[in-house]
Amino acid sequence: MGKYVIACIESDVEILDELYNKISRIVDSDYIIESYVNAEQALIGCYNYIIAGKEILVTIIGNDTSSMKCEDFIIELNKNSENTKNIIFNDVVSVESLQKMINQASIYQMIPRRFDRVDFELIILEAIKLNALDRRLKDYQKVLESAVEKRTKELNEINIKLEILATTDSLSGVRNRRSFYESCAPMITYTRRENKKLAVLMIDIDKFKLINDIYGHSIGDEVIRLMAKKTEGTLRKSDIFGRLGGEEFAAVLPNTSERGALKAAENIRFEIENTEYMTAKNEKIKFTVSVGVALLHSDDPDLETILHRADLALYEAKRNGRNKVILSKADTNQEDNLIIQ
Ligand code: GH3
Ligand code: MG
Ligand code: MG
Repeated sequence: MGKYVIACIESDVEILDELYNKISRIVDSDYIIESYVNAEQALIGCYNYIIAGKEILVTIIGNDTSSMKCEDFIIELNKNSENTKNIIFNDVVSVESLQKMINQASIYQMIPRRFDRVDFELIILEAIKLNALDRRLKDYQKVLESAVEKRTKELNEINIKLEILATTDSLSGVRNRRSFYESCAPMITYTRRENKKLAVLMIDIDKFKLINDIYGHSIGDEVIRLMAKKTEGTLRKSDIFGRLGGEEFAAVLPNTSERGALKAAENIRFEIENTEYMTAKNEKIKFTVSVGVALLHSDDPDLETILHRADLALYEAKRNGRNKVILSKADTNQEDNLIIQ
């Protein structure tokens, strides 16, 4: 069954037969040659073919006796088959209808009614060839578009991977220092503008040097990894957590009051105190962390300022025996640091 349709429209049945005979000599079974005696019939016929998934390659339009004018047929067909090459007998159209057709559809060729005097076969073959070219171009365009789409998707995926690589600390899997600072900056700006609360925690593994010294550096790495995982597990999704360097981590807790911050810090301390790392030789490694807590003040110019206060509190926690949570002096009314645990 043919895929491509060549539609001949002519009220003179003899001419219609001649058209059919001439065209059938030059095309093979891929092509369906249809004869219609008027434009209305032809339009219904062509639409049926289009619905059936066929392509209207060429129309040859001669005299027609229907109420539908030649130009209306071409314009209507063009709406659903814009690649069709329309060949018209030059005696069927006026200048006005020609203008209309050119503006609203397209005409491939005008030929004389005595089409035996022109190289009719060549014109038809050329129209078929052009149509195939159009089709191939469209297919090529589709292939090109899908290739571009695929490549864009790949590039996006690579960019996402690169972004993750650039923002993640390769040892612990949490944010690296740069990403931590970058993520916190807009959070601080927002919190200050909205007059909300925010807390910062500085967390450092106690006597970590000893772990390295006793078990070796690679076990030390594993301990850092475990500590990061456990700590992250106690935090909320909205908290920003990162490794600042060595065995030192920081967390920014948005929308968090003093009470909430101390609770979050204590959760971390408690979680780590109750964590143990098991070596391949079945040695249990227990370790603890100290946490310094600071709260955002309305006049804090940047993250660094709050981090500094949290760091001072962390230092106090170390001085007070480690495995402790301490609230920054600046945030407590008491003379001494507020020590938990
Ligand atoms: P403190 O309780 O006062 O914090 O004592 P500490 O031993 O934890 O602190 P100190 O700063 O003296 O030692 C930190 C050690 O962490 C020293 C350094 O060699 C080690 N370290 C830093 N980065 C890494 C790392 O990526 N992997 C491992 N295994 N060790 C690290
Ligand atoms: Mg330490
Ligand atoms: Mg340290």
